[in-house]
Amino acid sequence: MKAVVINKPFEVEIKEVPKPEIHDEKDVIIKVLAGGICGSDIGIFNGTNSLATYPRIIGHEFAGVIEEVGTAVTNVKIGDLVAIDPVNSCGHCYACRTGNHNVCSTVEVTGVHRDGGFAEYVKTSEKNVFKVDESKIDPQNAALVEPYSIGVEANERGRTTVGDKVLVMGSGPIGIAVMQVAKARGAEVMMTDLLDKRLDRALEMGADKVVNVLKESLSEAVQEFTNGDGAHVIIDSVCSPQSLEEALELAAPSGRVVTLGTGNKPSQIAQVAFTKKGLDVRGSRLSNNRFPHVIELFEKGAVTPEKMKTHTFHFREIEAAFEFMKENQADVCKVVITF
Ligand SMILES: [Zn+2]
Ligand SMILES: [Zn+2]
Repeated sequence: MKAVVINKPFEVEIKEVPKPEIHDEKDVIIKVLAGGICGSDIGIFNGTNSLATYPRIIGHEFAGVIEEVGTAVTNVKIGDLVAIDPVNSCGHCYACRTGNHNVCSTVEVTGVHRDGGFAEYVKTSEKNVFKVDESKIDPQNAALVEPYSIGVEANERGRTTVGDKVLVMGSGPIGIAVMQVAKARGAEVMMTDLLDKRLDRALEMGADKVVNVLKESLSEAVQEFTNGDGAHVIIDSVCSPQSLEEALELAAPSGRVVTLGTGNKPSQIAQVAFTKKGLDVRGSRLSNNRFPHVIELFEKGAVTPEKMKTHTFHFREIEAAFEFMKENQADVCKVVITF
């Protein structure tokens, strides 16, 4: 079979590799139909993803049909359309025992630590596949269950609820997913970005207010948006050392700040920033069994993955897709590759 392999930073190849085989009775093999390109895939390509190892078949946002099942598989059958949760956990460390398997001490992410979904076939465990109703969700949208699961996780961590004034920093695909999930939970959402086109898309997809931080004072905009409270929930998808500092500044007393970044450059933060406002600052990594909830949101039409997808490429054109994303940042939200 053919697969998208990053041999080492800046070297991507469409490679002939062995088709996976079932070894465990709970394994399933999926014929991949579509995958979303994530910033972290580009990070593996650029060599900036410190967690990745090489060579690697990338892709952690993907969907396909069940091609083969192990003898003990009961949840899905051959021919089912499924979205694949890339989180693989040990089941017995402290995080796993306490219901947070997404931060398992030995977590492995499909497409990062083990071979991923940008291949004609992929093997995973039955517990990682979630059936989607193909009469309601097409395979390209099903590939976007994963980024929306990040949006659900971040809002769970921020305890977003009805009437909250939420600030989502950054209007890329994760920011958009976070915003749409927050809206579905009954919050009002303000979004930021540096690019007007991305802010226009955010408005079109449901943001209540947008701020171009190059042109406007964010702190004034937040004060106005929240009637002087400060933001009740801030979810930071910009993920820079400065954005965290800003978030602590802009949060309301007793507010929640959720981080999504994996950068290792430190921020300058005095303890008083946490203490004075009694802030709840929480990290949000991957997602903690959120696929069923996301699929429900898709089926209800509560979020619009079809609008998140702005471009499609065939998987053989992966290098062109990477290049296109780099050159057209204002126009691209999510690029989906097809198989
Ligand atoms: Zn991703
Ligand atoms: Zn574990």
